[in-house]
Amino acid sequence: MKKALTIAGFDPSGGAGLQADLKVFHSCHVYGLSVVSCLTAQNTSGVSSIMPVDAGFVGKQLNVILSDLRPDATKVGMLYTAAHVRAVVRCILKFGLKNIVLDPVILSSTGKSLAQKGAVRAMRKDLLPLCTVITPNLHEAGVLAGIAVRTVSDMKIAAKVLKGLGPEFVVITGGHLGKEAEDVLYDGDFLSFRGKRVSGEFHGTGCMFSAAVAAGLAKGRSVTSAVSGAKKFMDRILPDAFSGKGRLMLLGWGAR
Ligand code: PLP
Repeated sequence: MKKALTIAGFDPSGGAGLQADLKVFHSCHVYGLSVVSCLTAQNTSGVSSIMPVDAGFVGKQLNVILSDLRPDATKVGMLYTAAHVRAVVRCILKFGLKNIVLDPVILSSTGKSLAQKGAVRAMRKDLLPLCTVITPNLHEAGVLAGIAVRTVSDMKIAAKVLKGLGPEFVVITGGHLGKEAEDVLYDGDFLSFRGKRVSGEFHGTGCMFSAAVAAGLAKGRSVTSAVSGAKKFMDRILPDAFSGKGRLMLLGWGAR
């Protein structure tokens, strides 16, 4: 059985964070392991509050699960503190984890900060060099690269800067570009994935996309094939969203 691990935050709505990741892994026929980094109180309208799990306990969860089961891919989502980042880095190195997908969660789409400044600095310096692929959106790419990213040509400039920080592949997701949702993949050469933008404000799209990439890698696909598969997965699940009081929620599988 192929296995994927997610290290992520707990979202009671199940639309983002580790529950969303587990739904995607299940839907992609990959067994899901999960380590929780933060508890959040949130709903489809936004994140109300965050309780970081003690970084020592994040390390404990990782050590205990990884000394038993070996994931074929690992997805890293919300890490709130620099100590969280350091705990994850230590375990990636200690257990020689491969196929690391980082969704560099920094700000929710409703405007709540989901990572302290020190966590972002530690991500850039210590975690990015260990990643197989990072999947920032426009805002996250801008923060990590230190430039404003609004257009496809900005995405290409940012992708080069981010690749310089150490990951093997950079995928900048362009779901908020405008009419076309173009994702840019860069590993020294550029590849574009274009799709129609589905209208509506969604919760958890970044989490589900990066989880689908991790599931693809766990199944032995190349990064390009995993990204292309994840894009198709999102095209399949976006039309089946249901509505909360705030944003649209994704099931995590194609219901039709
Ligand atoms: N909560 C958790 C635990 C997350 O990991 C994320 C994003 O990665 C969010 C909330 C925010 O998701 P969104 O901006 O799609 O609402």
